Amino acid sequence: MDIHICGCTTGTATRSARRLSAMQARPSTSDDAHPRRGGWRPLLWTLPLLLSLVFVAGVIAWVWANELAERELERQTLITDALSTEAQLRNRIAEEAALLRRLATGLAGQHAGAEALAARPEVNVGLRRLWLSVTWLDGLNRQIAQLPTQGSTASDGLSLHLVEPVGAEGREGQLVVRYDPTLLLKNGVPWWLSRKYAVQMVDSADLVIASTEELRPAPTPGPSYRVALTGPLRTGPLAEAALSDAALVLTLREPQPTALKPLALVLIAGFLPLSAVASWLLRRQMRQVMKAESAWRTEAAWRQAMEDSALVGLRARDAEGRLLYVNRTFCELVGWPAEALLGLTPPMPYWPPDAIEEVARRNRRTLAGEAPREGYEARWRHRDGHAIEVLVFESPLVDAAGQQIGWMGSILDITERKRLEERERRQVETQAHNARLTMLGEVASTLAHELNQPLTAIASYNAGVLNSLERQGGADPVVMGALQRLGQQAAQAGRVVQRIREFLTRREPQRERCALPGVIADAVSLLAKELARSRVELKLQLDPDLPDVVADAVLVEQVVINLVRNAADALSAHPEPRRIEVSARRAGERFVRIDVQDNGPGLQGLTAEQLCAPFYSTKREGMGMGLAICRSIVEAHQGLLDAGEAAGGGARFSFSLPLVRADQDNQGDEEEALSDV
Ligand code: ADP
Repeated sequence: MDIHICGCTTGTATRSARRLSAMQARPSTSDDAHPRRGGWRPLLWTLPLLLSLVFVAGVIAWVWANELAERELERQTLITDALSTEAQLRNRIAEEAALLRRLATGLAGQHAGAEALAARPEVNVGLRRLWLSVTWLDGLNRQIAQLPTQGSTASDGLSLHLVEPVGAEGREGQLVVRYDPTLLLKNGVPWWLSRKYAVQMVDSADLVIASTEELRPAPTPGPSYRVALTGPLRTGPLAEAALSDAALVLTLREPQPTALKPLALVLIAGFLPLSAVASWLLRRQMRQVMKAESAWRTEAAWRQAMEDSALVGLRARDAEGRLLYVNRTFCELVGWPAEALLGLTPPMPYWPPDAIEEVARRNRRTLAGEAPREGYEARWRHRDGHAIEVLVFESPLVDAAGQQIGWMGSILDITERKRLEERERRQVETQAHNARLTMLGEVASTLAHELNQPLTAIASYNAGVLNSLERQGGADPVVMGALQRLGQQAAQAGRVVQRIREFLTRREPQRERCALPGVIADAVSLLAKELARSRVELKLQLDPDLPDVVADAVLVEQVVINLVRNAADALSAHPEPRRIEVSARRAGERFVRIDVQDNGPGLQGLTAEQLCAPFYSTKREGMGMGLAICRSIVEAHQGLLDAGEAAGGGARFSFSLPLVRADQDNQGDEEEALSDV
């Protein structure tokens, strides 16, 4: 891989990106990583050599076939030339015979003698051409005359004869012309044929009668052809001396000058060692390439192993943000396989759908080279839907030519770190709240302690006044009633203060068996006047057969009072009718559930968690501790407090309390008790 990372940040190279993309898009197979040793590849270098041999064999076959064709053509030409030579010689002899015939015709009827013969022009013509001598014989074959007379008639070799009768049926004798067959050949064979062939006249015993050559055998006899030439030839003047089985033999003088043929052979002979050398070089080169390839594959396998074992997710992107490469850690981080990711352009499947716009904006900044060098945090989404917190470092991705082709990102999974940080933050927050609560508890405890005495005093004085008025007997019943209620309220206040003090000093609630409808009725009766003043209708729906619960009745009353008072507060700015409904029913095997609903403005989407946070209040004078204390009380009873929207609008607060036999901790049932909230 010719990609490395450096600090330069200019330009794009789509070509290189495509190269990298193609390289990465091809999933590596085990075969790629470990190529089979042996196989046909090491023998690949022999292919050119084999092809060269086939080529040479082809050329040789072609030359051979050409040679055969040439020879055949040569033979055909030889035959044609031989036949043509034979025809020409025949013609020549026929011409001489015709000349002789004219001479015989001219001599017929003349006085036989040398003068008559010499007077004939044909004699001179014949002697100039071919004739060695002309002899006139009488009927008894005695010589009448002969020209030329002597000497010049001698001949080295065999001479041939032409015979022609003189006068009707040879009554005046016959003419015999002696001629030299060698001269016949030299004059009768055209020059171009005698240059090409050695023309010989042979008898039946292959003895040379005449030849265009000197009478010696050719050093390298070429192909020859023999054609019969018997008819017109006779060796003697008499008819019976006719030459039988004479033949004309044409022998090709020398083979055609074929300079190309040896050159071709030299070239072919040179070509073979050259091919062998080239093949050897090729083999050496191939070995080097295979060695380099093997080293490259090993390196690639190592690199792959290192990338896969890295705990950091790696991804390479081109200038358009298209994914070119992802390592295994990255795939595991986002839950998508590499095949599904490679080639994808933004938006990516691991971007959270609720923040696509924001991530896309940041991605554009990154691709423009504006990503912070120290990295940036991002929230992604795993394929299964859970959120992942990541820390991303981007560096320019450059090719071997140093040209930037995209971006290389290293991604760290910081989800766990973030979770721990969040937990720590919450712990700190909770500790702060707890500290404030502790302080508040101390204040409340002190206050309760301080109030206890005046409340007791109020109750005592009230009891004293009542007793005194009763003894006097004439007291106004209204005053008496008011004083009695005053006493009740004072006693209740004392109890509340006492219980709260106990609760805040972390004493366990005084849990005892109690009937919930009575507890709830007591609690709301304390608010009756207040509700009437605010023109709030209160409706109780209490199951009379509700089993008893195990609870601290005073604290449960406080919870109910707080929830009803909050509902009344929420309704105060709300148009009439203002309704609050308190209901209690059994929930599951072990719990009862108490609901307080109103038709006020509702919770505006806030959760129980948010509402119950200490010091959260929307009221000008509110402390924001009411719901926090309620939740603490309910949870101290192993119950749960929850809040939501009421069916007909408004708010609904619910809490659960355990039944008599259920003071064991059972979280599952608690949730079950509120599951239909
Ligand atoms: P405080 O009453 O001092 O504000 P609480 O803890 O009792 O503190 O209540 C916290 C907040 O919860 C209230 O300020 C109010 O905004 C909201 N709240 C409680 N009960 C209701 C309700 N029935 N309807 C609407 N809001 C409510």
